[in-house]
Amino acid sequence: MNRTHNNGELRLGNVGEEVALLGWVANKRNLGSLLFIDLRDSTGIVQLVSDHPSDFPDVKSEYVVAVKGTVRKKEVPNRNLPTGEIEVEIAELKVINEASLPPFIIADKTDALEDTRLKYRYLDLRRPKMLNNLKIRAQICAIFRDYLNQKGFLEVETPILNLSSPEGARDYLVPSRIKHGSFYALPQSPQLWKQLLMVGGVERYYQVAKCFRDEDLRSDRQPEFTQLDLETSFLDQDQLLSLNEGFLARLFKEVVGYEVKLPLRRIKYWDAMDTYGSDKPDTRYGLELFDLKPLIYPSLFSGMNERSLVRAIKIPGQGKATSRKVLDELNLEARKFGLKGLFSLKVENGELAGSFAKFLSDPQKADLMNQLGLIEDDLILFAASADQREVDFGLGAIRTWFSKKLNLVKPGTYDLLWVVDFPMFDPIEGEAGRYTAEHHPFTRPKDEDLAKLDANPEEVLAYAYDIIINGYEAGGGTLRIYDRATQWKIFRLLGLSDEDVKNKFGWFVDAFSYGTPPHGGLAYGLERLSMILAGTENIRDVVAFPKNLLAGDPLSHAPTPVDPEQLEMLGIEIKKED
Ligand code: ASP
Repeated sequence: MNRTHNNGELRLGNVGEEVALLGWVANKRNLGSLLFIDLRDSTGIVQLVSDHPSDFPDVKSEYVVAVKGTVRKKEVPNRNLPTGEIEVEIAELKVINEASLPPFIIADKTDALEDTRLKYRYLDLRRPKMLNNLKIRAQICAIFRDYLNQKGFLEVETPILNLSSPEGARDYLVPSRIKHGSFYALPQSPQLWKQLLMVGGVERYYQVAKCFRDEDLRSDRQPEFTQLDLETSFLDQDQLLSLNEGFLARLFKEVVGYEVKLPLRRIKYWDAMDTYGSDKPDTRYGLELFDLKPLIYPSLFSGMNERSLVRAIKIPGQGKATSRKVLDELNLEARKFGLKGLFSLKVENGELAGSFAKFLSDPQKADLMNQLGLIEDDLILFAASADQREVDFGLGAIRTWFSKKLNLVKPGTYDLLWVVDFPMFDPIEGEAGRYTAEHHPFTRPKDEDLAKLDANPEEVLAYAYDIIINGYEAGGGTLRIYDRATQWKIFRLLGLSDEDVKNKFGWFVDAFSYGTPPHGGLAYGLERLSMILAGTENIRDVVAFPKNLLAGDPLSHAPTPVDPEQLEMLGIEIKKED
């Protein structure tokens, strides 16, 4: 079974060569006097041909075969295949293994339901597109490792069985057999360990790290996922970002041949929010948000007051197309972010119409038309709220909605930028003076904002940065607090009592008294990067054996009940559901 060539690599230069090939029958056409077989292996597909089919054993789809033959030039090339200029004339054909009839056609174009594809994932992976996604994923890891190895980083593995700690999402728990009633938690990220590696003097760490979060699933989330995780000592934010830009430039160049322009643009969090209504803006199209308040003041609607922010978005040529029904849909979208609803204005027969027009005087209308340069069929949607996040996020969702409806993004284009200067805290809705950490509790507040921690924590910005690619948060990180006093202060502001801190993070914070270097890092979502570079919006397309939306594995059927003896050993009893 010695193969001489990979199927996908045969080209005109091989014409005349005797080759021995292996692979799966992707397709067969027996025309009686002519036999065509598409032979697939992990590198691609090549066409086999014979004008005396009866000399060879009959083969069916997905049979594994070995072939000897001669490469010849094809009279009419097949432009759809990289090997399309040649074909292989069969001299010998041997069946190595037969195959049952597959439940779906194994080709890039398939009408199989995703459930079926997941149940027979091993067949789904034979589709060249799927295999290519795995190759892209592997290439990303290889470049990450190579780039950081060259920069003096050390790959270190951190534990999978961890202390459960309130890091944000729900933990996956693993019961202890030795200590009944106690549990390990699977890591949500290697955050604490990588910081301890910095205390440990490693200085430059990275890891391709499996992470687990027991959250409700969406199309771009999986309960287990992989981070390209790194941490460094003694670098400031600029140095850290530019180190990462080197990786990103190499990545895009090598994987998709795209030349990333460096340095990347940096947008401050509140600027991104106010302009794009998002902390992960896609800036490949306009539809930017703007402040409408000065233009309509004092015609404030009953839902607005002096404190209200009034932000708007102008969508040219969508006045007529945006019917009542569409507006209802948009209102639903806006309400998801806490807004009460949207107001609309549109230019109809040269006049301002729409739900808000009746609140404006004629001079105000004329002023609006002028200042916003409105023309026929322009649509203005706007919202008001005293909560800046609410009004920004709400209109951001409208911006995204129209970008999809109007196909404003050209496929195959890339938009990379940093969002920096995140707020340190996110106020908890309806609970004045209570906060969660916008990133995580180990994030370092900006030096110039330290003084505001006591009086105005909401205004404190952090050394926190996200790398945004095509509107996805592809990664994020922070510089870390490296002194005990600030760390305790942050814990307190997050509402953790001294007792809580001692129990949950005492082991970690203690380390900080032994000479902790200034440090910081970042983690990329490997699946996100793979999705962007493979051009898919479905995270399951870049995971070999993904879970479904119920966090189950359709192939092995995990999770399943276990033997009573196993539970007994763990000291666990299952409560009977009603
Ligand atoms: N551990 C962080 C996360 O999972 C990333 C970082 O701050 O390095 O988001």
